[in-house]
Amino acid sequence: MEYDERLARFRQGHVNPFDRGENDGTTDRKDTPKLEVRPELFSGEPKSQSSDRAMDLGLAEDHFSRPVGSFVASDIEQLKQAIEECKRLILELPEHSERQKDTVVKLIHLRLKLQELKDPEEDEPNLRILLEHRFSKEKSKSVKQTCDKCSTIIWGLIQTWYTCTGCYYRCHSKCMNLITKPCVRSKVSHQSEYELSICPEVGLDKQDYRCTECRSPVSLRGVPSEARQCDYTGQYYCSSCHWNDTAIIPARVIHNWEFEPKKVCRSSMRYLALMISRPVLKLKEINPLLFNFVEELVEIRKLRQDILLMKPYFITCKEAMEARLLLQLQDRQHFVENDDMYSLQDLIDISSGRLSCSLTEIHTTFAKHIKLDCERCQAKGFVCELCKEGDILFPFDSHTSVCQDCSAVFHRDCYYDNSTTCPRCARMTERKQEEVEL
Ligand SMILES: [Zn+2]
Ligand SMILES: [Zn+2]
Ligand SMILES: [Zn+2]
Ligand SMILES: [Zn+2]
Ligand SMILES: [Zn+2]
Ligand SMILES: [Zn+2]
Repeated sequence: MEYDERLARFRQGHVNPFDRGENDGTTDRKDTPKLEVRPELFSGEPKSQSSDRAMDLGLAEDHFSRPVGSFVASDIEQLKQAIEECKRLILELPEHSERQKDTVVKLIHLRLKLQELKDPEEDEPNLRILLEHRFSKEKSKSVKQTCDKCSTIIWGLIQTWYTCTGCYYRCHSKCMNLITKPCVRSKVSHQSEYELSICPEVGLDKQDYRCTECRSPVSLRGVPSEARQCDYTGQYYCSSCHWNDTAIIPARVIHNWEFEPKKVCRSSMRYLALMISRPVLKLKEINPLLFNFVEELVEIRKLRQDILLMKPYFITCKEAMEARLLLQLQDRQHFVENDDMYSLQDLIDISSGRLSCSLTEIHTTFAKHIKLDCERCQAKGFVCELCKEGDILFPFDSHTSVCQDCSAVFHRDCYYDNSTTCPRCARMTERKQEEVEL
C-alpha cells in the first residue's frame, strides 16, 4: 500500500481519496505521478490543539513507539476503531482544511500501523542476498532515510527496511524485489577501474529516451520524467535513479586537475564513494603531463620515493618496528608499497595541501630515526666510495645518487662525474670471478 503516495496526491489537491466514499485502497493509481513526500509530514503530531476528536483517537506518540510485539488483540481492535473514527471525521471536516489534512495524516499512520501488526516484522529474514547485494535488516527506527529504489521516505518506525552492507544501498523491504541494479561493491572488487573519459555522453536517442538504470521513459523536456545526466557515466537517468547528488569526478581530476563536484546518479555516487581511497590511478601512465603542471605532485612523488628508500631500514630495525613507525602510513598503505599509484583521495588531499603537510611530517620523523636516533640504522649509512670523503650518506638524502644494481650510495656530483662504473659492483664482479676460477 503506498499510502504516502496517496497522501502526497491528496496534499497537492489533485485527488481526495475520500471523495468517492470508498476508502479501501483500491483507487486506480496507474498514472499516479511520482511525488516527493517530505519527512516533516510525519515529524510529530499536528500542532493543532483544538479539542477535535482526532486528538482523542489514541494517536499519541507513545502509542506508536511501543515496542513491536507488545501489541495485543485489543490494540488491533482499538486501531480499527480509530481508523473508522478518522474516516468519519475526514468526511465531516471542511474540504481541504488544515484539520482535514492532519486527520488524513493520522489515518495513514494508523493504517500503516495496522498493516504492520498484521504482517509482523519477524517474518522478514535478517539477511537477504540479491544481485550481489548483501541486505541486512535494519534495526534503526530513524525516519530520516530515503529508499534508493522508490525515492520516498523510509518510516523506520513502521516499515521494515534493509541496507546493503557492501554498497550502503538502502531500501524498503517492499521495494527489494524491484531492484534491478547489481551491487557496486562487486564492481569495486572485480573491476576496480574508473571511467576516465570526461562525461562520455552517448545521447538520449542512443538510450532510447529511457533511464539507463531502470529503463523508465525520460526526456529533457521533463515529459514524462526529467532526464538527468550523470557527469561520471555521461548517461541520462530518471529522477528516481539520479537525485542530483554531487561528487568529484576522477576523469576531470586526472585530465584537468579540476575538483569541482558534479552531479551524479545514485549508483555512481555509491561507486565513487567506495572507490575514493583505492589506489587505482597510475598517474604517470594516464596523464604524465600532469607532473609538468602541478608542482605539488612532483613534491609528493619525491617524498614517496624517499619513503620507499627508508622502508628497508625500518623492516630490519627492531626499534623502528617497536615504535610502529611505518604504521603512520596505515591510512595510505600503498605509500609503503609503491610510488606511482594514487587514490582519488590522495589527489584531493594533494590539491588541498593536506597530503604535503602530513607526508612531510612523516618524512621528517622517519629521517630523524635513521640518521639521528637509531645507532643500528645509522650504521647502515654509506661512505661515498668515489671520493671517500664527507658525511655518512643515506639513499634518501637529496644530494645523493643510488646505484641501481647494488644500491650503494654516492654523492650525486661524484656519481655523475664518474659515469663509468660503480666501484662496489666492480668489486663484487671481481670477487665472483675469483670464486669461479678457484
Ligand atoms: Zn522504497
Ligand atoms: Zn550492494
Ligand atoms: Zn531510473
Ligand atoms: Zn632504526
Ligand atoms: Zn663523493
Ligand atoms: Zn653498484
